[in-house]
Amino acid sequence: MNRFSYARASAVREALEQRRANGSAVFIAGGTNLVDLLREDVARPATLVDINRLPLKSIEATPGGGLKIGALVTNSALAYDETVAARYPLLAEAILAGASAQIRNVATVGGNLLQRTRCYYFYDAGTACNKREPGTGCPAMDGLNRIHAILGASDQCIAVHPSDLCVALAALDARVHVTGLKGTRALSFAEFHRLPGDTPHIDTNLAEGELITAVELPKEGYAAHHAYVKVRDRASYAFALVSAAVGLELDGDTVAGVRCALGGVAHKPWRDPGAEDSLRGKPLNAATAQDFAGRLLHGARGRSGNAFKIELAARVIVRAFDIAAQRSRGEAAS
Ligand code: SF4
Repeated sequence: MNRFSYARASAVREALEQRRANGSAVFIAGGTNLVDLLREDVARPATLVDINRLPLKSIEATPGGGLKIGALVTNSALAYDETVAARYPLLAEAILAGASAQIRNVATVGGNLLQRTRCYYFYDAGTACNKREPGTGCPAMDGLNRIHAILGASDQCIAVHPSDLCVALAALDARVHVTGLKGTRALSFAEFHRLPGDTPHIDTNLAEGELITAVELPKEGYAAHHAYVKVRDRASYAFALVSAAVGLELDGDTVAGVRCALGGVAHKPWRDPGAEDSLRGKPLNAATAQDFAGRLLHGARGRSGNAFKIELAARVIVRAFDIAAQRSRGEAAS
């Protein structure tokens, strides 16, 4: 592990200035991913700026009827918040499908958005990796790629984003509030994460030195018509091979609106608004769900170890629609 210095901030501006004072400093909150990166010599910051004392731990109603979640709210606090459980159960389900109770107790919302891929090669400093060291190559292309992307990949990188929470936030159309020394701004969830393209070392559209301060949920939480389905190699404490977050608006058995995001398949939660629009006004049944899955997975490409994900993803989508439909009719979903 590289040697680093440690600083602690009590105010957002103080944290930003500490970050600016040292260009290779990084913020640390729960540290559940960053400590791994430090141990494996993947991250080599000169300074860690501890932001755990910043006043970003509240969950507040917004004037528009939504919810603003501070970036330092832990995953456990968010999943068990009464308002979230009642109005945004899709979010609570996705959180509780991820990690372990111990990790959820310290992992934060902001950190969850910034966690890095779990590609084996990325964590092995003895191998090439375009994400860790641009221009060195991508051994996953023809190597161990069971957990890798089937959508949105590039010839530089086929890594996936590992978060469960982010898949639900994408389906819910959350917004990400960030602040820097030049001011504050909000990004749609779709524009927050990036596809790898020819810059796979850049995961997000955060500008240099910016800090996530909150995530804002819109009013619609799809409480009655939702499902989060996650398929993984172990029953718990494992990242998704494929996951799907679905929110439905139904008029009887007809789809009035749909949101569907996939996890485990791309460098960011995967959505296709065109596919979602195509389902509006149609009856919700296995055939229309299967047709939607085909549209959402259009262009999917498998490799030696992960081609199974294409069929798996289609099945996960159909299953998620089925659960959401059962719930919408007040039936017990299992
Ligand atoms: Fe690195 Fe991406 Fe290739 Fe993995 S898939 S080895 S993270 S470049």
